[in-house]
Amino acid sequence: MQADSFKTECYTFVMKNAPQSSNKCEACSKRLEPIADMLKLLPMERALLEYPQRVISVSMPVRMDDGSTRIFSGARVQYNDALGPTKGGIRYHHHVDEAEVQELAFLMMIKCALAGLPYGGAKGGITVNPKELSKKELERLTRAFVRALGTTVGPQSDIPAPDVNTDAEVMGWFADEYGKMTGKYQPAVVTGKPLKKGGSKGRDVATGLGGVYIVERFVATRGWNPAETSVAIQGFGNVGGHIAHLLHERGYRIVAVSNSKGGVHNKNGFSRGELVVAQKNKILPKGDAVTNEELLELPVDILIPAALSEQITKANAERVQAKVVLEMANAPTTVEADAILHARGTLVIPDILANAGGVIVSYFEWVQNLKKQSWSDKKVAEQLQKKMHEAYTAVTQETKKRGSDMRTAAYVLAIDRVLKAQRKRRH
Ligand code: NAD
Repeated sequence: MQADSFKTECYTFVMKNAPQSSNKCEACSKRLEPIADMLKLLPMERALLEYPQRVISVSMPVRMDDGSTRIFSGARVQYNDALGPTKGGIRYHHHVDEAEVQELAFLMMIKCALAGLPYGGAKGGITVNPKELSKKELERLTRAFVRALGTTVGPQSDIPAPDVNTDAEVMGWFADEYGKMTGKYQPAVVTGKPLKKGGSKGRDVATGLGGVYIVERFVATRGWNPAETSVAIQGFGNVGGHIAHLLHERGYRIVAVSNSKGGVHNKNGFSRGELVVAQKNKILPKGDAVTNEELLELPVDILIPAALSEQITKANAERVQAKVVLEMANAPTTVEADAILHARGTLVIPDILANAGGVIVSYFEWVQNLKKQSWSDKKVAEQLQKKMHEAYTAVTQETKKRGSDMRTAAYVLAIDRVLKAQRKRRH
């Protein structure tokens, strides 16, 4: 009895005091602002969501091809593990910093909870322009990152995956180095691996396909005809390239695509052949040149940001003409822009729902690795569709119930799940 009352006292004490550390995620706090009152969050609950559980900062010496050594910096943020091991991608980008990684890890926590996965959220990043490195240098950098993280990652603790500028090959190096470091090949330490290294069928197209399942449900409720539905896509990489093909296959008109150098526009829509050749060769199809900024403002039915964060801001939100914004990138719309779009009647299907297909199939890959199974393409696609539809239905019902936008509804559902799991923990 005495022990129990001591725990209660400690709990009460912590509830009254904000954490003392300096790694509060300010961007996450801003994202929580509109939801905190709605959910009547206690101060401690809010603090739990504003502070990442663990931030690992690393510096890594890497031997370059010319014999010199360069030091690279990176970070891994394990945001919250109330629902299970933390999960999230690794990004290689010259602009990536710890604050961005924290926000992306927070979004992963929300996304996993919303999709009903037994995972918390995480994210990792290395500040590097991978285009300036040779393949061998990239491999050495990846292996150095694995050694620097050590056993803070693992199949039952934190499981990385691909993100911007990291792909199946990088994940393969990751799994291999982790195996060497721990003395045992454990494919479940990372997802998005090549098939021959324990990857799942369907993982490469998963994020795009998940987005397509959402578009199909939405378009059906509005009674739109795919052939008359125009789509502009910012970013023509893994996610943007696949969603372009998958929507084209289903009869949608893809009228604009772009990469980091700029975009192209064809108001009649690109042909399948043009899209296939362009994606295979990592170029853009032929069309009228547009800048990435102009692409976001084209008069289309569906706008798909599938590149970087903070593309739709208060500076350009008023000029977005699309009826629907399907957020395939993470955090492409700022909080201020979101409010502007909502006020103008533009429907925003939020990242934490729209691009959840990637982490859902990553979860399937992890399950297959742990159970030593290999699922067919058909099984992966069916299970993915089921999970995407469940999440979409839950969010649309919550949206109606609250009279809110979809993002708010999605956050409410996800945060409720995280806090319920957190309450079961003893502090
Ligand atoms: P990728 O590296 O394969 O592709 C990124 C694309 O964006 C490339 O075409 C690149 O040229 C383009 N790009 C880069 N900078 C740009 C800029 N300033 N303006 C316009 N385009 C630019 O990355 P990806 O895996 O396709 O990821 C894209 C987005 O989707 C990211 O926000 C990522 O976090 C998100 N996401 C990815 C996955 C996944 O499974 N890969 C899952 C969920 C969310």
